[in-house]
Amino acid sequence: MNCTTASFPPHEANKRNEESGQQERGGQGKTAILVSACLLGEKCKYSGGSNRNETVILWKNKLEQAGKAEFIPICPEVMGGLPTPRVPAEIRGEKVITRDGRDVTAEYEAGARKALNLAEQHGCIYAVLKERSPSCGVGAVYDGTFSGTLTAGDGVAASLLKSCGITAVGESQAQQLLEQL
Ligand code: SF4
Repeated sequence: MNCTTASFPPHEANKRNEESGQQERGGQGKTAILVSACLLGEKCKYSGGSNRNETVILWKNKLEQAGKAEFIPICPEVMGGLPTPRVPAEIRGEKVITRDGRDVTAEYEAGARKALNLAEQHGCIYAVLKERSPSCGVGAVYDGTFSGTLTAGDGVAASLLKSCGITAVGESQAQQLLEQL
């Protein structure tokens, strides 16, 4: 599942965005940034809770009040049609499988495509995403054994967004990214 643009490493995407003046592609000259809704406190996590992150919220408020950025919340799992709460899932090979054995790959891919559509509508060049999630995880995800073991890789939505040139970081890297804006 790839977008129509070629895949390239994030640092190359940044370079390309800077060269083409895409740093301010969002509305009214603001930098548009996708953000995992659960990091903002939305209760869309599989358990029915959130992953509220005060650093992300602080930077969102700060940049929006300064008129520098526009944050676009996404929850790819809910956007893909899954309920909340829901049975947790992990990536296993090419598929996403719930703890009780159901194949939810189609829902994850549908949510990823919707997240990409939103990113394109808003001209997002960055995404701040929830680490370790099978949708939003950046750089590391659980390995499909439901044993809490991490493995290198991206969640389904994060992978699609990155392949389309969006620079995605996890919440632990958010400040490092956002303080440059
Ligand atoms: S899919 Fe992403 S935004 Fe939705 S609950 Fe999971 S980590 Fe959060």
